[in-house]
Amino acid sequence: MSVLQSARRAAARIEAAHGLNAVVSFDRDILLEQASAVDRGGSAGPVRGLIIGIKDNICTLEHPTTCASRILAGYRSPFEATAVLRLKAAGALVACKTNLDEFAMGSSTEHSAFGRARHPERADLVPGGSSGGSVALTAVGAVDAALGSETGGSVRQPAAFCGVVGLTPTYGRVSRYGLVAFGSSLDQIAVTARTVETAAHVLSVISGRDVEDATSADADPVVTDGMSADVAGLTVGLPTEYFNELDAGVRRACHHAIDCLRNAGAVIREVSLPHTHLALPAYYVIAPAEASSNLARYDGVRYGLRVTPEDGDVHAMYRATRGAGFGPEVRRRIVIGTYVLSAGYYDAYYRKAVAARTLVAKDFQDAFASGIDLLFAPTTPSTAFKAGDKLTNPVAMYRSDVFVCPTNLARLPAISVPIGRTGGLPVGAQFIAPAFEETRMIGAAAWLTSVVDPQQEVS
Ligand code: GLN
Repeated sequence: MSVLQSARRAAARIEAAHGLNAVVSFDRDILLEQASAVDRGGSAGPVRGLIIGIKDNICTLEHPTTCASRILAGYRSPFEATAVLRLKAAGALVACKTNLDEFAMGSSTEHSAFGRARHPERADLVPGGSSGGSVALTAVGAVDAALGSETGGSVRQPAAFCGVVGLTPTYGRVSRYGLVAFGSSLDQIAVTARTVETAAHVLSVISGRDVEDATSADADPVVTDGMSADVAGLTVGLPTEYFNELDAGVRRACHHAIDCLRNAGAVIREVSLPHTHLALPAYYVIAPAEASSNLARYDGVRYGLRVTPEDGDVHAMYRATRGAGFGPEVRRRIVIGTYVLSAGYYDAYYRKAVAARTLVAKDFQDAFASGIDLLFAPTTPSTAFKAGDKLTNPVAMYRSDVFVCPTNLARLPAISVPIGRTGGLPVGAQFIAPAFEETRMIGAAAWLTSVVDPQQEVS
């Protein structure tokens, strides 16, 4: 089949997925033009002809980049993200931009100026977030893979809810040039796909040093060709704290996967990560602090929306623009972030959070130094929740990230894979690797998905 033919089919699937509200901009002609260009020649390689969705906080030339915020309504970036550029150069097709929580702040894709995205299997549930659009669209097969972003788990958490793969690289492994900044010490471009292999191919193309990003690591792209999909002889650590508060069905699914690992010759060892309880509170100080600074640039002058009151000075214009342009969750983050950085509170909140982050990161280092090759843990404490359920309780919403945000604080790579179902809904579990050991975790994840049946209800 030509790339053009497969792009036509994808276009029909993207249009048919309309009810998910996962897509925020799509142009059939642009997709088909890219496909014809790939057919005419050029690239050969594992991502040639792959249909890719791009979270709408990643800059593209073909489509607006809005971060699902009124403040960037209709904004067009003059440049494209390095990850997007590399995918296109390798023959992948940028199909559409996908829905997200405004500026990637959220865990349910309900905080979007475009309205909430739906879970791919049950419209009354959330797909998770903040990359809910990318993940839902991938889950229904409308795209082969999608780029999302993680600041605190925003690809793995929805991937677990929707029964697909979510892969976050080591901090610095993938260029963030063109990823709209949220929390710069945490932000990463991450990948979702239906199979580990597809996610790995996308990662292999987008990873590697980029001079456009000062935080990009001096590390080669991830090589996945000839990678061994095996766990025999690996020491897999189970972090005790991640198994403490867990829905029964999620626990059963994890134990089934652990039995499989053990039977295949992995050495299973319990390990304590004693500062896990500090991760969520530290994250929800550090991420808003950085957001309050990063979002200061939306001033009504440089980007997008401008609201000019009849009479008033430039400050009145700033206030009116930001008041009208940002939604309630973003405003909450800016207020919290400004507060924890303010004189008098900086030591009590921000400095303390940074110290807690160091302890969380050290827990992981100690575990790996003790001979553990990979950690294995549930991705989320429960399955997808009902839309509206956590909207009025931000702390309950934040708690759905309890097992994903620690690795972002520690800047480690992790991959979530579907491992079964409970109550009819997908359950995800994750492998966490030492920094720059993506290949090891991808191999283990590929192996696990070859032996567990993600459609199987656990009993
Ligand atoms: N849910 C988290 C938050 O709201 C994580 C967001 C993310 O990873 N982008 O901040």
